[in-house]
Amino acid sequence: MDYKAFLIKYAEIGVKGKNRYVFEDALVRQMHFALDPVAEFNIRKESGRIFAEASEPFDYEEAVEALSHVFGISGICPVLIEENKDFDHIQQVVKTYVKERYEDRHFTFKVMVRRGDKSYPIQSMEVAALLGEKLLEEYEELKVDVHNPDVYLTVEIRDKIYIYSDEIPGPGGMPVGTGGRAMLLLSGGIDSPVAGYMISKRGVSMEATYFHAPPYTSERAKQKVIDLARIIARYTGPIRLHIVNFTDIQMAIYEKCPHDELTIIMRRYMMKIAEHFAQKDNCLALVTGESIGQVASQTMQSLYVTNEVCTMPVFRPCIGMDKQDIITLSEKIGTYETSILPFEDCCTIFVAKHPVTKPRLDVIKKSERKLDDCIEELMRTAIETEEVIQVRH
Ligand code: ATP
Ligand code: MG
Repeated sequence: MDYKAFLIKYAEIGVKGKNRYVFEDALVRQMHFALDPVAEFNIRKESGRIFAEASEPFDYEEAVEALSHVFGISGICPVLIEENKDFDHIQQVVKTYVKERYEDRHFTFKVMVRRGDKSYPIQSMEVAALLGEKLLEEYEELKVDVHNPDVYLTVEIRDKIYIYSDEIPGPGGMPVGTGGRAMLLLSGGIDSPVAGYMISKRGVSMEATYFHAPPYTSERAKQKVIDLARIIARYTGPIRLHIVNFTDIQMAIYEKCPHDELTIIMRRYMMKIAEHFAQKDNCLALVTGESIGQVASQTMQSLYVTNEVCTMPVFRPCIGMDKQDIITLSEKIGTYETSILPFEDCCTIFVAKHPVTKPRLDVIKKSERKLDDCIEELMRTAIETEEVIQVRH
């Protein structure tokens, strides 16, 4: 089958009332970002639908793959477009379509006709009945089932004729760019890339911060995080990645604070620094991969103590998910294989054998006072020496 176009269905955008065009325009823009590297497509909106029509030959699989990463799309329908609206011509095209699309025609079908062009001389129901008849005449293996057919063959009569019968599921969600910006705390683990994906799925553009601790963490650990950012950037769009040297802060905490509180204190400084970049870059929230009870630093008490340093909302989309559910999602979005590469992240090197699981805010704050003479300076240096990388798919 030689498709030249796709009809794009979108779900939630449809209910946005007067602002609907904002969402549609954002979707068109995101589709362009995804399809431009594949081939030149003419993308246009038309009464509750978006059409992407190629103006040059393209790789079908590649185009579908690109579109299946665009949030806001609920269905991708490869479609035939015919300029000649004459019924005799249409029935011929539909017959050829069924022949080419389905080698084995032992299935039930129903023809659905939508008539956007009300001036078309034959009514929808009649077009559907006539086409059904013609198909049954041509291919005796076919059967009609109007209630539960294997194949819905849809014919839309508009400025041109559109014929399709496949709908490849899209990723759903809202087009990126319609929901503001957020700052993802991106580590090399399984959870945070998934968290970024989930928030971005609601239309939010992503920026990210990664804390490394050279020489305790390697270049390869850093590269792994860049790779993860690149994988999710296929969904989120380009990601501005802040890479922060956290070694001196970590060493200071290690030297001066009780070891069982190390992780929690470290996490508080990470949140503070990430929030600093977030504010500077107009992000409206922080995003982490935390999930209740997963590790000592993610008990309710720990989350409470960590959260206390932030003034921005902190989104934790994995909060109620089991690890296995997070893993399943990471496999689906393609980050899992990279996440499990065995390069240490900065938390694993300095973790205590028995970290506190029920930290108390007053106790933690008291411990942090031991850093009073150096922490401001260390934070300033960490912020000033950040490395920023623009990561795109
Ligand atoms: P992940 O799989 O996302 O690494 P985790 O199960 O390893 O999570 P923690 O190490 O406790 O859990 O981290 C909790 C969250 O804190 C992470 O999901 C991430 O958002 C953030 N985080 C942890 N370490 C870093 C880091 N080195 N740089 C940036 N963010 C981090
Ligand atoms: Mg981690």
